[in-house]
Amino acid sequence: MQADENYSNTGYRRLWRDWIRPFRGQILLSFVFMVVAALASAGYSKSIQLILNAYETSDNTVIYWGPIAIVMIAVIKGFSAYIHTVASNSALIKFAAKLQNAMYKSLVKADMSRLQQETPAELASRFMTDTTLLQQSVQSILAGVSAVLIIVATIGVMLTIDWKITLILIAIFLLSVAPVNAVGSKIREITKHTQAQMSGMNSEIIEGLTNIRMVRTYQLESHLNKTAKSVFDTLRFLRIKDINWRSRLSPIMEIISGSAVAALMVVVSWRIAAGTTTVADFMGLLTGVAVVSQPARKLGDTFALIMQGRAVMDRVFPILDAKNEIADKPNAKVLETVTGHVQFKQVEFAYPNGFKALKDFTLDVPAGSRVALVGPSGAGKSTVFNLLPRLFDATGGQVLIDGQDVKDVTVASLRKQIAVVSQESVLLSGTVKENIGFGRVGASDADITSAATAAASHGFIDALAEGYDTKVTSGGNHFSGGEKQRLSIARAILRDAPILLLDEPTSALDAESETAIKAALDRLAKGRTTFIIAHRLSTILDADMIVVMDKGRVVETGTHSELLDNNGLYAELYRLQFTHF
Ligand code: ADP
Repeated sequence: MQADENYSNTGYRRLWRDWIRPFRGQILLSFVFMVVAALASAGYSKSIQLILNAYETSDNTVIYWGPIAIVMIAVIKGFSAYIHTVASNSALIKFAAKLQNAMYKSLVKADMSRLQQETPAELASRFMTDTTLLQQSVQSILAGVSAVLIIVATIGVMLTIDWKITLILIAIFLLSVAPVNAVGSKIREITKHTQAQMSGMNSEIIEGLTNIRMVRTYQLESHLNKTAKSVFDTLRFLRIKDINWRSRLSPIMEIISGSAVAALMVVVSWRIAAGTTTVADFMGLLTGVAVVSQPARKLGDTFALIMQGRAVMDRVFPILDAKNEIADKPNAKVLETVTGHVQFKQVEFAYPNGFKALKDFTLDVPAGSRVALVGPSGAGKSTVFNLLPRLFDATGGQVLIDGQDVKDVTVASLRKQIAVVSQESVLLSGTVKENIGFGRVGASDADITSAATAAASHGFIDALAEGYDTKVTSGGNHFSGGEKQRLSIARAILRDAPILLLDEPTSALDAESETAIKAALDRLAKGRTTFIIAHRLSTILDADMIVVMDKGRVVETGTHSELLDNNGLYAELYRLQFTHF
């Protein structure tokens, strides 16, 4: 528990230092007006006492100054509350926006190995709910500060009216701390579960909708409904439990306030009888209790929300703090334009789950040659693609480009030398022009058109209603497989990188697209070191070198006829896949 407390300190202290301090001007302004509002609140108690005192002593001027004093207090309190709410909330909104930006930045550049630990849907939903929850927690801390100020100021005034009675009242209020704490810890527990379920619900929904085509064709709607319903049900249950516990705070505080008033009446009637207290004092104190009771009730909530913030920070800070392993070494060199000589030297690679996808993988690819990677699925072909642009780092051995270890050069300069054409969905939301333009920053319209022409895309782009300015939805659902391929080839042509990674589509395209794409790819691959995850015989036959992989190793290399003569794995794969051509 002790360590936990310290951690919470670190959490909020850090939140202040790194995230809220930049907005301290507004927070300070808000604080000043909180103090003013608190003093005005305390003023109610004092002025009621003074007004009644004036009546008791037959001071007739009270008819004028009494109401004026009350109105003045109300105006000051209202005005100050307005300013402190606006100032603190605008600081909070800015804080949440800043945090969202930073979290997104950190996720976008995070190591693949880290991102793969959660689904994109999970990350997206945590990103949204966590920032909102944290903003809520900070908001409630500020509200708590305002409540404490009101309580302190009012109690101060009450002490001047009759300190003995006030102390009795404080004692009664302190008795409330224990039950409020007990309820608070229960709420904290429920909130934690609720947050987890909220994230689960969001990711469930995003996942279902993202894969809606598969869901429809396999008629999985009822399966989705069932899993979603169980999440909804748990969430409903937790929310009801949460509101139940939260609502218990109100009666507790209500009963305590009632008891306070009752105790006050008993003590006051004794003291009035003894002549040590007046009715004016009594009314002043009663007003004080009324003023204090609402902020005191709020404090119960504040406690639960502070705990909620702690839980959220436990999830948010690790995202911001995560160190990327794939980063520039302190004296990393810039990889200047290369010829494209690529070597893998006894490369070992294990995925974060420990699975060894490459073992003793050695390959020497002369600049400008075309290499076809062939092998059964799971052999490690895509993994080879992951290591060249350092999406993952080899866990052993070396990957060299023009003799330089990819780990010794800057990541940016390394990736500049590599273009990728993959069969995965490659389009981001934006226009067609932008999507091709992603290949090279600052490409002109003419560059884009000529890349599209070389990629056999100009024809179908031109035929679109808005041509190059046609909006692409994310994932590019409006384009056919062949069209997406060609757009991604156009992007790669624009990149004009010496090394090309080409993941050939497995699905057959129509004959016309096939020919167009083949011609475009030939143009693209010319003069570049090209690695192709090959599925078509024609591609394999065109290769300068065929690398046959199995279980993370190179088992054979050679040309088509050499490998057939070897009568090894290649010959077997060839017979299985291509003899019917
Ligand atoms: P190929 O492209 O030849 O089909 P991959 O390179 O995709 O093969 O995969 C090689 C092996 O590594 C497979 O057994 C696959 O299951 C495993 N693998 C791929 N990606 C990951 C990952 N992110 N985490 C764990 N294992 C992975």
